[in-house]
Amino acid sequence: MSDRVRLIVSWLAWPVLLGGCLAATAWGYSIGKPVLTFNLTYFSLAGVLLLLEYLMPHERSWLASDGQTPANIAHTLLSKGTVQTLIVFSSVIGLAAYVTPMAEPGHGFWPRDWPLWAQVVIAVYLSEFGLYWAHRLAHEWPPLWRFHAIHHSVTKLWVVNTGRFHFVDSLKSIVPGMMILIPLGAPMEVITWLSAITAYIGILTHCNVEMRFGPLSWIFNTPGLHRWHHSRDLREGNKNYGENVVLWDILFGTWFNENRRPPADIGISEAMPPRFIDQVLWPFRRPQPAQSHAPEAAE
Ligand SMILES: [Zn+2]
Repeated sequence: MSDRVRLIVSWLAWPVLLGGCLAATAWGYSIGKPVLTFNLTYFSLAGVLLLLEYLMPHERSWLASDGQTPANIAHTLLSKGTVQTLIVFSSVIGLAAYVTPMAEPGHGFWPRDWPLWAQVVIAVYLSEFGLYWAHRLAHEWPPLWRFHAIHHSVTKLWVVNTGRFHFVDSLKSIVPGMMILIPLGAPMEVITWLSAITAYIGILTHCNVEMRFGPLSWIFNTPGLHRWHHSRDLREGNKNYGENVVLWDILFGTWFNENRRPPADIGISEAMPPRFIDQVLWPFRRPQPAQSHAPEAAE
């Protein structure tokens, strides 16, 4: 790949891939097969990103194996399974019976007569408030950091560790955003759109592809911003908590981006066991030590 082509692709990749996925998702709704279309789109995106990681990596050293691929996949499956189980369990115990009346037309404050795209934008920004504080607390409150440390213990970023979250960490992340949207009466179609957008931006955020973002990093959580978030240096790492958009980072003073390359040497100061099962038990096993990601430990 010539340098010129590489430069053009690095500017176009993020907006074109996200835009393409959103267009495919909209088409999936229009033909009445949103779930199937989402799954096909998501795995196609993962395939394209894996190819781009190989062709034009952001960090060439991150192409080497870290031995964590099985653990990454196991955490992804367990987290996804736990969240799905919670949703099924909630419906079994009748939570939906309380929630549904609020979600019917005429209930709640949700502007159901607005265009769908505007409702989705509102949902992204409102849920982001919950996601932002859940993520920030996971860094600044030691008991929650114990769970979130699993995600940050990787020494390289790539597509396959996008879903590497302790299952408790996943539950902690999803609840605050939903606690905002559901009582307001957000329709299910808006919530599924939000889930799709979060999935697409999440996998893009962790990819090891050389991309450029320019002003996009003032709106969205781009891979450029998120690489700072994985820095071992807490002056850089305890920043950029946004999941999809960065408004709350800007307002609460945690938006961080400097005109230099983020460090390639990422990770945490604690020792994380390499095996999946030991990682699942790790937050429960060890006594609470002085927590490395706490702000007071930043000096
Ligand atoms: Zn984090």
